Amino acid sequence: MAKRDYYEVLGVDRGASQEEIKKAYRRLARQYHPDLNPGNKEAEEKFKEIQEAYDVLSDPEKRSRYDQFGHAGVEGGTGAGPGFGGFDFGGADFGGFGDIFDMFFGESFGGKRRRRGPERGADVRLDLDISFEEAAFGAEKEVGVPRLERCPDCGGSGAAPGTGPVTCPACGGTGQVRITQRTPLGYYQTIRTCHECQGTGTIIPNPCKTCRGRGQVQRTRKIRIKIPPGVDTGARLRLAGEGEAGERGGPPGDLYVYINVRPHKIFRREGFDLLCEVPISMVQAALGDEIEVPTLEGKARLTIPEGTQSGTSFRLKGKGIPRLNGAGRGDQHVVVRVVIPKNLTEREKEVLREFARLRGWEPSEKEKGFFRRVKDAFMG
Ligand SMILES: [Zn+2]
Ligand SMILES: [Zn+2]
Repeated sequence: MAKRDYYEVLGVDRGASQEEIKKAYRRLARQYHPDLNPGNKEAEEKFKEIQEAYDVLSDPEKRSRYDQFGHAGVEGGTGAGPGFGGFDFGGADFGGFGDIFDMFFGESFGGKRRRRGPERGADVRLDLDISFEEAAFGAEKEVGVPRLERCPDCGGSGAAPGTGPVTCPACGGTGQVRITQRTPLGYYQTIRTCHECQGTGTIIPNPCKTCRGRGQVQRTRKIRIKIPPGVDTGARLRLAGEGEAGERGGPPGDLYVYINVRPHKIFRREGFDLLCEVPISMVQAALGDEIEVPTLEGKARLTIPEGTQSGTSFRLKGKGIPRLNGAGRGDQHVVVRVVIPKNLTEREKEVLREFARLRGWEPSEKEKGFFRRVKDAFMG
């Protein structure tokens, strides 16, 4: 099969510039690329033909040989090293492919990001100690949060005021550089992130003095935090957008506040219920009484009935912690502990012995066994 003229294949005239050749090639390659024409043999042939024409005409040396000698001048792998002429391994072919992939797949090549765009700022964690009461009833606290913020002087661009970033000369703005390696199989190329611009595609010739070109500055920002009533240790509050500033115009991260509730001297918490212990005397326990007990909102009165045993729990309805969902409050449970007096006076001992005799107890008789005494104590 006679080969068509390469200029004809690309549809350009003999005096076409490199730019015109490249343009024509890209337009045709886009049209006939096998990925866009699956199973179309004709398109595949056409694509190979376009590729071959471009390989020659895009290379000034090969192009001049082709202009002088026609197809014969560029056949046989002249001047292109091993593997040239093959469709898959030739360095020039592969280079052409790179262009196509760039065109078709934009940001990606071989599954890697080839250019770093805006990035969301990091989330910030803040551990906050609050009092038991603040947890119960909610609070508003102002805290200092150290975080990276957008530089106020350059607006986050990193460039000195009045200047701007320019296209990276090392990668031409793509953020990546191709490294061609020669192997026994032919040339192949690897794509690396450009070191000059760290993949951003731009460099800043005059960095902002405030942030040294980072676009961000470390600041401790005062932030008001609303603590809802009912939170407990381990609760996490999210303040959207109060994290660190994003890079290259990306959105800020979030601030997460982890709550730690300091223990209370009197109260313990179980879910939304409160627990506390209150000491009473054995006389109050036996005769009954009305006592004062602590609550989160001051004192409350509690009736101790006659004959109350140590460890008995009383419930103060609705005196617990407000529920987070706003559905009322938990209860407070008051456990009474009967305190047995020590260091009795002789007169007090006399009264207790008298009491024991009245009850029919004989506490001092040594001949009575332990079990008998236990039985007496409980059965009266
Ligand atoms: Zn700055
Ligand atoms: Zn670069």
